[in-house]
Amino acid sequence: MAWYADESPCDYFGDDAAPILRAIGWLERGQPILSGESNQEVYEQLKRLAVDCWQPRMCVGLHPCNLCQHEAESSGSKNLFIPADGFLYVCPELIMHYMNAHGYTPPAEFRRCVLACPPMNSMVYRKSILANGGRVLMRAVKS
Ligand SMILES: [Zn+2]
Repeated sequence: MAWYADESPCDYFGDDAAPILRAIGWLERGQPILSGESNQEVYEQLKRLAVDCWQPRMCVGLHPCNLCQHEAESSGSKNLFIPADGFLYVCPELIMHYMNAHGYTPPAEFRRCVLACPPMNSMVYRKSILANGGRVLMRAVKS
């Protein structure tokens, strides 16, 4: 898994999608990890969203957690796309493990957008993805 600083442009899904994607929770051992107050509400909402989360039609690999001391206790392959103000946040589903096991606290603006995010199988969500530049994700297939 690639490392991105929180809120930096994310080119993991191709260069054409990078300008509208901002990374959250792409953590890696040796890099600073934001921590702060507990985020039960945000955590629960991420869990709800991840159950039936929208994925662009592109292949991505498995992300093992490399913050765990020994073997990774957790891994994930999905990514969550959270509509923001004119762009999308993208976080690996491992963000829930990072919050739960490693004391990670995502930035406040991201937390606000997570709590406002509609269910990902809804039309409102699709429209919100499109309205914030996500069309590039709808058509792109990573080769
Ligand atoms: Zn871990």
